[in-house]
Order: sequence, then C-alpha cells, then structure tokens
Amino acid sequence: MIFNPNIEIGKIISNDEIMRIFKCGNMGGMRRSKANGVLVLISDQTKKFYKDNWKDNILYYTGMGKKGDQVLKGNQNLTLYESNKNGVEIHLFEVLKKKEYTYRGIAHLAAEPFMENQKNFEGEMRSVWIFPLELEKKRVCVLNDSKRNEINIELDNLLIDKELNEGSFDIQPFSGYQGTPKAKKEAVKQNTYTIYYRDKKVALNALAHAEYKCEVDKNHKLFIRKNANIFYTEPHHLVPMEYSDQFDVSLDIEENIISLCSHCHNEIHYGRDRFRLIKDLYEMRAKLLKSVGIDITLEELNQMYK
Ligand SMILES: [Zn+2]
Ligand SMILES: [Zn+2]
Repeated sequence: MIFNPNIEIGKIISNDEIMRIFKCGNMGGMRRSKANGVLVLISDQTKKFYKDNWKDNILYYTGMGKKGDQVLKGNQNLTLYESNKNGVEIHLFEVLKKKEYTYRGIAHLAAEPFMENQKNFEGEMRSVWIFPLELEKKRVCVLNDSKRNEINIELDNLLIDKELNEGSFDIQPFSGYQGTPKAKKEAVKQNTYTIYYRDKKVALNALAHAEYKCEVDKNHKLFIRKNANIFYTEPHHLVPMEYSDQFDVSLDIEENIISLCSHCHNEIHYGRDRFRLIKDLYEMRAKLLKSVGIDITLEELNQMYK
C-alpha cells in the first residue's frame, strides 16, 4: 500500500511533524517507519561531515554510520540498498537551514549504490556508502501549482521589460529558428518552488518572429512599449517551462514561444475557453516543436493546462 503523507512538495515542516506524520524516530538521517512501510531520509546540508550532492537531478546521499567504515548490515543502509525491491518507499527531506525540513517527495534509487572514501568528523579517511537517488517525477511535479505558474508568467514579462529598459538589447529582425534541439539548463530550486531558466534574447527573438503581433490573430489591438519602438506582446511558452522535467531538451526555444497580446496571454492561462487557443497554436507549432525534440500530442499539452 502506498502511504500518502499529504505534504505538499516544497513545504517546510518541523522535526516533530515528521515524527508524527510518518511515525518514525526523531533522530538521524535515515528513519524507518515500520507502521507506514516507509524510510524517511533527511539530507542535512547544514552538517559538515555528510556531503550529499545534487548533480543532474540525482542526489548522492551518504549512508548512515558516523564512525569507521559504513556497512550494509543490520541498519537502514541495507533497507535503502534494497529499496527498489523490498517495497519500502523512500520519502526525502532536505535541510538547508537548521530545524527546517523541506519535503522533496518520493525518491528511488537511480543507480547501484557505491562506496567512496570520505573524511569523518575527526579528519580520518573511511569508506562510506553513496546512494544515488532520484525524485519521482509524477509525484514531484505539482502540476497545478498556480503560484509557480504565475511566477513564471511574471518572470517572462518582467525580464523583457527590464532588458529593454537597460537598453542592453537592440531590437533585431528575427534571426531564424534553430531547427535542432537545444540542451536544457538545470532549474534553480528556491525554498518552495523551482524557477526554470529562460533566456530573454530567445523570447525577444520569438516576438520578433511574430513581428510583435499576437499570433492568435495578428489584428488584435496592441499598444507600443514604453521603452522600445515595438508593440507590446508577451512571450508564452506553449509547452510550459514548469514541465521541463519531462523533456530531455530545452523548452526555452523560439519554436516553443508564442507572441501573445496581453488579453490572449491571460486567456490561455485563466480562460474557460483556453483549449480552443491551445489547439490552434498547437496545430501551428506541432511540426516545429518536433524538430527541436519537443514531441507532444495535443492531449498531453491540454493536460498541462488543466
Ligand atoms: Zn504564458
Ligand atoms: Zn491576442
């Protein structure tokens, strides 16, 4: 049976709450709850002697045992080692600030655990177990996280306005589609949400492609920007940036960015009839999206706007 702790991903809770919700102990980085069939892992980044590192969305989690070589016997290292087959679910918390436990969701072993030499707290070398952990995407993506969505929309518009204000960018004619997939950048994790890197030059180039008109209908009424002699339209990522985890390539690419008037941009995010807009834009862009490695059906895209 799957245990649902009912904690929002990214939420910060206390040590007492962890104990109460999971029915586990209140000490150590690995806490087994037999009652719920889970293993709670705490990656405490404030502790000097356990070096857990994130790399390419994998957390290299150091096993338990402070003294001597770590072993895989009679402890939770073994539970974790066998977690892909013993049915024990892994719930991960990160501590970035003392006493604040941020819930990251359910994790699983992404690769074979391995041994590594590390210094212990007395400065002596010893071998420790490293467990490569990956968060489970389906449960981790808070798909209807409207706050995150709003942050992303705002970011796009602000970035461009700022860029034009600083005069650091010349309005250029559209420089063409890339036509090939673009490597994606890693997301920046803030305390409770994730920001996906976007390039304002790419957004501006996409707006230039549409000749600064609304791509739903180029006759939509627009106004002139206060800091540049072009119409004000907003860049919208048709496949939303917050779904970056589900693609191997960057979503921040001209082929995926639509120039919209403020009315249509609000409608596509907040309107009852948004699926009509999404369908039209999808039909316009599906081929281009595919050419840059963003392979998606209309049904899948609609899901992202539910
Ligand atoms: Zn948008
Ligand atoms: Zn419009």
